[in-house]
Amino acid sequence: MQKDVYIRLREFLDALPVGYPATPTGVELKILEKLFTPPEAELTLQLRESPESVSEIARRTGAEAEALADQLETMARKGLIFRVRDDDGAKYQAFQFMIGIYEFQVNAIDREFSEMMEAYLPFFGKSMVKTPQLRVVPVESAVGFSGAVAPYNQIRNLVRQQTTIAVTPCICRKEQGFMGNECSKPRETCLSFGPFAEYYIENQFGRQIDIEAALGVLDMAEENGLVLSPTNSREIQAICCCCTCCCPALKNIKFLKHPASYVRSYYAAKIDMDLCTACEECLDRCPMDAIRIEADVSEIIDGRCIGCGLCVSTCATEAIHMQLKPGLAMPPDTLQDTFEQIRQERNRKKA
Ligand code: SF4
Ligand code: SF4
Ligand code: SF4
Repeated sequence: MQKDVYIRLREFLDALPVGYPATPTGVELKILEKLFTPPEAELTLQLRESPESVSEIARRTGAEAEALADQLETMARKGLIFRVRDDDGAKYQAFQFMIGIYEFQVNAIDREFSEMMEAYLPFFGKSMVKTPQLRVVPVESAVGFSGAVAPYNQIRNLVRQQTTIAVTPCICRKEQGFMGNECSKPRETCLSFGPFAEYYIENQFGRQIDIEAALGVLDMAEENGLVLSPTNSREIQAICCCCTCCCPALKNIKFLKHPASYVRSYYAAKIDMDLCTACEECLDRCPMDAIRIEADVSEIIDGRCIGCGLCVSTCATEAIHMQLKPGLAMPPDTLQDTFEQIRQERNRKKA
């Protein structure tokens, strides 16, 4: 007997780079049942991880091209599959669950989906490997803008290089809102670029903005103490501006002894004791509780600093500066390379 289509879809998504692990509760199947109709689940199983035109998919699967085109476009608009457009028209591909299908539900998310995700995230987190999808970069005010800062850490310059930019509401804050944990931080803080931005704009998941407005989002993030988390690649595809109350990754590592071990960041803060007056202004600003002041002596707690740089601007005496951590390899060139690295660490073969 053929396995239930949602079990096959779960297995299919689990073979994609970041995976989609099974749980003892089966909540991951309930999520798929909520998002995909059975025919949509079946069609996803036919797709590849690289974009293909409708005619290519029709040829491969034997489907009738006109009906297939409608079905693929409907699924792309629902955020179940990814669409890119080039000179030859629309192309479609299967996409992993997170970062991916989950974030594409930013308009559709409701209380039921939020409850399912809250139940699933602890299991999903266990599938994480060494290479993360996002990294942390310091706010530019903390490190400046000079040749000493590697191009992939010059966050404002990376934004200035983009041609298509979208800003989207933060789905994690929306989800926490549905769970009754309304976040006081701004909602419209997620930036995406290039093909991601085009997909978000066309699907009305986000709105198109220009470079100045995108730099304004970074300013707003810094004012509000949000951690800048671009995709873990030199060519960035997105920047999340995260809070530790809603971002599942930051929320969970904050409770660990050494959060820095779980974050890819090239910097860590250092305090100059000669300049520090123990005024405590930096304490509230630090999202990881990484600063300790005892008997008028302040220090960065070993293994807690994730290199966000948010503390630097709060220090009136300029006692804090960001130090480059030695011996770290550069991020992969593209997000696709990052996904491949993650896939290899998970011992999965490309579909
Ligand atoms: S990862 Fe961060 S910015 Fe992105 S959606 Fe979640 S909390 Fe919002
Ligand atoms: S000490 Fe805290 S605020 Fe400062 S860079 Fe480290 S994590 Fe960020
Ligand atoms: S803000 Fe600066 S001076 Fe005040 S405690 Fe922090 S490091 Fe020291």
